[in-house]
Amino acid sequence: MKSKLSLFLPLVFVLGLAVVVSCSSSGSKGGMGIGKSSRQRLAIALLESPRAQFANYHVSGRRDNATALDNMKQTAAGVPAARSSYGTAPGGYVQLHPEMLRAMKILTDKGYSFHVTSIAGSSHSSRSRHYLGTAFDINKVNGVPVRSGSPYWREVIRICEGLGATETLGPGDRGHSTHIHVAWPRPPGM
Ligand SMILES: [Zn+2]
Repeated sequence: MKSKLSLFLPLVFVLGLAVVVSCSSSGSKGGMGIGKSSRQRLAIALLESPRAQFANYHVSGRRDNATALDNMKQTAAGVPAARSSYGTAPGGYVQLHPEMLRAMKILTDKGYSFHVTSIAGSSHSSRSRHYLGTAFDINKVNGVPVRSGSPYWREVIRICEGLGATETLGPGDRGHSTHIHVAWPRPPGM
Protein backbone atom coordinates (compact mmCIF):
# COMPACT_ATOMS: atom_id res chain seq x y z
CA MET A 1 0.00 0.00 0.00
CA LYS A 2 2.77 2.37 0.93
CA SER A 3 4.70 1.65 -2.27
CA LYS A 4 1.60 2.26 -4.43
CA LEU A 5 1.00 5.60 -2.78
CA SER A 6 4.62 6.66 -3.16
CA LEU A 7 4.34 5.89 -6.86
CA PHE A 8 0.96 7.56 -7.19
CA LEU A 9 1.79 10.94 -5.68
CA PRO A 10 4.72 11.77 -7.95
CA LEU A 11 2.57 10.66 -10.91
CA VAL A 12 -0.15 13.13 -9.92
CA PHE A 13 2.48 15.84 -9.63
CA VAL A 14 3.96 15.06 -13.06
CA LEU A 15 0.53 14.95 -14.71
CA GLY A 16 -0.42 18.22 -13.05
CA LEU A 17 2.80 19.80 -14.28
CA ALA A 18 2.14 18.49 -17.81
CA VAL A 19 -1.32 20.09 -17.80
CA VAL A 20 0.08 23.42 -16.62
CA VAL A 21 2.86 23.36 -19.24
CA SER A 22 0.54 22.38 -22.12
CA CYS A 23 -2.03 25.03 -21.15
CA SER A 24 0.50 27.83 -21.00
CA SER A 25 2.26 26.80 -24.21
CA SER A 26 -0.95 26.46 -26.25
CA GLY A 27 -1.68 30.10 -25.53
CA SER A 28 1.69 31.40 -26.58
CA LYS A 29 2.87 29.17 -29.41
CA GLY A 30 1.37 29.49 -32.88
CA GLY A 31 2.34 28.52 -36.39
CA MET A 32 4.74 31.44 -36.69
CA GLY A 33 5.81 31.67 -33.07
CA ILE A 34 3.02 34.11 -32.27
CA GLY A 35 -0.41 33.47 -30.73
CA LYS A 36 -2.76 31.19 -32.61
CA SER A 37 -5.41 33.10 -34.51
CA SER A 38 -9.06 32.41 -33.80
CA ARG A 39 -9.37 30.77 -37.23
CA GLN A 40 -6.50 28.47 -36.34
CA ARG A 41 -7.99 27.48 -32.98
CA LEU A 42 -11.40 26.90 -34.57
CA ALA A 43 -9.90 24.74 -37.32
CA ILE A 44 -8.07 22.61 -34.75
CA ALA A 45 -11.25 22.15 -32.70
CA LEU A 46 -13.26 21.23 -35.80
CA LEU A 47 -10.68 18.69 -36.98
CA GLU A 48 -10.84 17.10 -33.53
CA SER A 49 -14.65 17.01 -33.48
CA PRO A 50 -16.22 13.73 -34.60
CA ARG A 51 -19.30 15.72 -35.66
CA ALA A 52 -17.49 17.73 -38.34
CA GLN A 53 -16.23 15.74 -41.31
CA PHE A 54 -14.31 17.12 -44.24
CA ALA A 55 -13.99 15.49 -47.66
CA ASN A 56 -10.50 14.44 -48.71
CA TYR A 57 -11.64 14.46 -52.36
CA HIS A 58 -13.35 16.79 -54.81
CA VAL A 59 -16.83 15.92 -56.07
CA SER A 60 -15.35 16.52 -59.55
CA GLY A 61 -12.81 13.75 -58.98
CA ARG A 62 -9.88 16.14 -59.57
CA ARG A 63 -6.92 15.75 -57.26
CA ASP A 64 -5.02 18.63 -55.67
CA ASN A 65 -4.16 20.08 -52.26
CA ALA A 66 -7.40 22.07 -51.94
CA THR A 67 -9.96 19.56 -50.66
CA ALA A 68 -12.09 20.56 -47.68
CA LEU A 69 -9.85 18.44 -45.44
CA ASP A 70 -6.70 20.04 -46.91
CA ASN A 71 -8.17 23.51 -46.27
CA MET A 72 -8.91 22.70 -42.63
CA LYS A 73 -5.46 21.21 -42.04
CA GLN A 74 -3.81 24.22 -43.66
CA THR A 75 -5.83 26.59 -41.48
CA ALA A 76 -5.08 24.53 -38.36
CA ALA A 77 -1.38 24.81 -39.23
CA GLY A 78 -1.66 28.60 -39.47
CA VAL A 79 -1.20 28.89 -43.24
CA PRO A 80 -3.72 30.10 -45.86
CA ALA A 81 -6.07 27.58 -47.49
CA ALA A 82 -5.30 26.43 -51.03
CA ARG A 83 -7.73 27.02 -53.90
CA SER A 84 -8.05 24.68 -56.86
CA SER A 85 -6.70 25.57 -60.32
CA TYR A 86 -9.23 23.94 -62.65
CA GLY A 87 -12.52 25.12 -64.18
CA THR A 88 -13.17 28.68 -62.97
CA ALA A 89 -11.09 28.19 -59.79
CA PRO A 90 -8.32 30.82 -59.65
CA GLY A 91 -5.59 28.87 -57.85
CA GLY A 92 -3.52 30.52 -55.12
CA TYR A 93 -4.43 30.75 -51.46
CA VAL A 94 -6.93 32.50 -49.19
CA GLN A 95 -7.48 32.82 -45.44
CA LEU A 96 -10.68 31.15 -44.27
CA HIS A 97 -13.24 33.51 -42.75
CA PRO A 98 -13.29 33.15 -38.93
CA GLU A 99 -17.05 33.78 -38.70
CA MET A 100 -17.66 30.91 -41.12
CA LEU A 101 -15.47 28.59 -39.05
CA ARG A 102 -17.23 29.75 -35.88
CA ALA A 103 -20.59 28.82 -37.43
CA MET A 104 -19.29 25.30 -38.16
CA LYS A 105 -18.17 25.04 -34.54
CA ILE A 106 -21.52 26.26 -33.22
CA LEU A 107 -23.31 23.67 -35.37
CA THR A 108 -21.24 20.92 -33.73
CA ASP A 109 -21.91 22.45 -30.29
CA LYS A 110 -25.64 22.32 -31.04
CA GLY A 111 -25.29 18.60 -31.77
CA TYR A 112 -25.38 18.60 -35.57
CA SER A 113 -23.00 16.38 -37.48
CA PHE A 114 -22.24 17.21 -41.09
CA HIS A 115 -20.00 16.43 -44.04
CA VAL A 116 -18.31 19.39 -45.75
CA THR A 117 -17.51 18.75 -49.42
CA SER A 118 -15.85 22.04 -50.32
CA ILE A 119 -14.51 25.22 -48.74
CA ALA A 120 -12.00 27.31 -50.74
CA GLY A 121 -11.21 24.52 -53.21
CA SER A 122 -13.09 22.92 -56.14
CA SER A 123 -14.49 24.78 -59.14
CA HIS A 124 -17.67 26.85 -58.61
CA SER A 125 -19.35 29.79 -60.38
CA SER A 126 -16.84 32.38 -61.58
CA ARG A 127 -17.25 34.91 -58.75
CA SER A 128 -18.01 32.33 -56.09
CA ARG A 129 -17.46 33.27 -52.47
CA HIS A 130 -15.73 29.91 -52.05
CA TYR A 131 -12.69 31.54 -53.66
CA LEU A 132 -12.78 34.26 -50.97
CA GLY A 133 -12.75 31.74 -48.14
CA THR A 134 -16.23 32.69 -46.91
CA ALA A 135 -18.32 29.75 -48.18
CA PHE A 136 -18.71 26.03 -47.61
CA ASP A 137 -20.85 23.22 -48.97
CA ILE A 138 -22.46 20.37 -47.02
CA ASN A 139 -23.91 17.22 -48.61
CA LYS A 140 -24.94 15.35 -45.45
CA VAL A 141 -26.43 16.42 -42.10
CA ASN A 142 -26.76 13.98 -39.19
CA GLY A 143 -25.88 11.18 -41.62
CA VAL A 144 -28.76 12.07 -43.97
CA PRO A 145 -27.95 13.12 -47.57
CA VAL A 146 -29.16 16.62 -48.46
CA ARG A 147 -32.25 16.26 -50.71
CA SER A 148 -35.41 18.31 -51.09
CA GLY A 149 -37.42 15.97 -48.86
CA SER A 150 -34.78 15.24 -46.24
CA PRO A 151 -34.66 16.75 -42.75
CA TYR A 152 -32.04 18.88 -40.96
CA TRP A 153 -30.50 20.87 -43.82
CA ARG A 154 -33.06 23.68 -43.56
CA GLU A 155 -32.22 23.98 -39.85
CA VAL A 156 -28.52 24.26 -40.70
CA ILE A 157 -29.26 27.02 -43.22
CA ARG A 158 -31.40 28.88 -40.66
CA ILE A 159 -28.69 28.65 -37.99
CA CYS A 160 -26.01 29.88 -40.41
CA GLU A 161 -28.22 32.81 -41.45
CA GLY A 162 -28.55 33.67 -37.76
CA LEU A 163 -24.75 33.64 -37.56
CA GLY A 164 -24.23 36.07 -40.42
CA ALA A 165 -24.47 33.97 -43.61
CA THR A 166 -25.92 36.17 -46.36
CA GLU A 167 -25.98 33.68 -49.25
CA THR A 168 -27.66 30.33 -48.64
CA LEU A 169 -28.68 27.81 -51.30
CA GLY A 170 -30.00 24.27 -51.25
CA PRO A 171 -32.47 21.84 -52.88
CA GLY A 172 -34.89 23.91 -54.93
CA ASP A 173 -32.08 26.23 -56.06
CA ARG A 174 -30.39 25.52 -59.40
CA GLY A 175 -27.33 23.29 -59.07
CA HIS A 176 -27.97 22.57 -55.39
CA SER A 177 -30.26 19.52 -55.41
CA THR A 178 -27.74 17.44 -53.41
CA HIS A 179 -25.94 19.99 -51.23
CA ILE A 180 -26.39 23.21 -49.33
CA HIS A 181 -24.16 26.25 -49.78
CA VAL A 182 -23.70 28.82 -47.03
CA ALA A 183 -21.60 31.96 -47.48
CA TRP A 184 -20.62 34.98 -45.44
CA PRO A 185 -20.23 38.49 -46.92
CA ARG A 186 -17.42 39.29 -49.31
CA PRO A 187 -14.51 40.70 -47.24
CA PRO A 188 -13.82 44.41 -47.94
CA GLY A 189 -11.75 44.93 -51.08
CA MET A 190 -12.30 41.41 -52.45
ZN1 LIG B 1 -21.02 26.30 -52.62
